[in-house]
Amino acid sequence: MSRFNFWELAKNALSAHENWGRQWRAPEPKAEYDVVIIGAGGHGLATAYYLAKEHGVTNVAVLEKGWLGGGNTGRNTTIVRSNYLWEESEGLYDHAMDLWQDLSQELNYNIMYSARGVMMLAHTIHDIQVFKRHVYANRLAGVQNEWLTAEEAKEYCPPLNISKNMRYPVLGAALQRKAGVARHDAVAWGYARGADKYGVDIIQNCAVTGIRRGADGAVEGVETSRGLIRAKRVGVVAAGHTTTVMDMAGVRMPLESYPLQALVSEPVKPCFPCVVMSNTIHAYMSQSDKGELVIGAGTDQYISYSQTGGLQIPAHTIEAICELFPMFRRMRMLRNWGGTVDVTPDRSPIIGKTPVPGLFVNCGWGTGGFKATPGSGHVFAHTLARGEPHPINAPFTLDRFRTGRLIDEAAAAAVAH
Ligand SMILES: Cc1cc2nc3c(=O)[nH]c(=O)nc-3n(C[C@H](O)[C@H](O)[C@H](O)COP(=O)(O)OP(=O)(O)OC[C@H]3O[C@@H](n4cnc5c(N)ncnc54)[C@H](O)[C@@H]3O)c2cc1C
Repeated sequence: MSRFNFWELAKNALSAHENWGRQWRAPEPKAEYDVVIIGAGGHGLATAYYLAKEHGVTNVAVLEKGWLGGGNTGRNTTIVRSNYLWEESEGLYDHAMDLWQDLSQELNYNIMYSARGVMMLAHTIHDIQVFKRHVYANRLAGVQNEWLTAEEAKEYCPPLNISKNMRYPVLGAALQRKAGVARHDAVAWGYARGADKYGVDIIQNCAVTGIRRGADGAVEGVETSRGLIRAKRVGVVAAGHTTTVMDMAGVRMPLESYPLQALVSEPVKPCFPCVVMSNTIHAYMSQSDKGELVIGAGTDQYISYSQTGGLQIPAHTIEAICELFPMFRRMRMLRNWGGTVDVTPDRSPIIGKTPVPGLFVNCGWGTGGFKATPGSGHVFAHTLARGEPHPINAPFTLDRFRTGRLIDEAAAAAVAH
């Protein structure tokens, strides 16, 4: 596989770009691997990449029941930020933020990371108190975050309506300048290409249907739609389907799966410079490089595995967007879609060991795991390679729902993002 550089681009331009090679192989599954990862979303692929690159574990298979990046990774609204409240989360999300900075160079693949700033609007006294608490907590931990008045927010994002006649006027905003967006499927493709280069087998159209355990209870391998694949270490990275996969090993997870929707408008010229989120009236928006306004809606109120959702949810979001940005009232919406998000009771992920020897899990990212993709893969690779968590993911145990040492990020995760 060739590297992307000026000379390759020039050479391929001479043949109208028709001779670029495949970006990853389509191998047949082997009978046995050192590590099997279930789920070829961004988190599973990043895990495989760092396992091979940083730990020298290359006899790895990533099994995907559909196509790689076809789950939540290819369905999200691409927002990347790290202004969470608790130290544990700041450590995890800021680790990811550090990796985002030069991920395109690392992967030799343009993931279109754009640090255009994420602004979270305050509409009530309670919002102001909560966001200022986040700003102070973040700054104490060395995480970028700052407070803006309503006028400063409008200066940062001119289409914002700060009139006092709104149902919930904008009273101020928390801004993380280095936050922004990255192209979601390029992240999956970049990690897939990188992992494949190190010899990792990415096997698509291969659904895991069972987890085989030995007489001592330890994992021996997985049953799949393409036969039994043996492995003494298995990492489950299956997002909304984590409960069903973990059920196969007899482990009950503290997760609920909800449909979460997003939608995009017809494309227009660049007119929206940053990302704006409002927890209170529940909407958020950015503009893609194609020009579409990318709008995030909320979760449905009921649990489901369907990758669609109730129409009233995006309709409510559109009302909020029209209130915040009246200039977009006449825009037409092009398409909407849904994903299945895995939500924990404290809105923080679970990354680590399970009660089953050899079985590890990385899940519970809910409505906001895209931003963590590089950091999550990096620490989960460490956990799988060494059998022990990295210090960054050590607090994110499954056991915390038994001991009560929760990491409550309900406020930071209030609007889906
Ligand atoms: C509409 C929407 C908007 C979002 N917006 C944002 C955002 O702006 N910012 C943000 O940070 N996060 C956002 N998220 C959340 C984010 O997308 C997810 O947290 C993240 O992508 C999860 O990545 P993953 O790799 O864990 O899961 P996925 O990408 O879902 O990958 C899991 C994979 O496992 C596979 N799988 C499942 N069961 C099996 C099986 N039995 N055998 C084999 N494979 C299996 C699935 O097919 C899937 O491909 C959003 C999510 C949605 C749905």
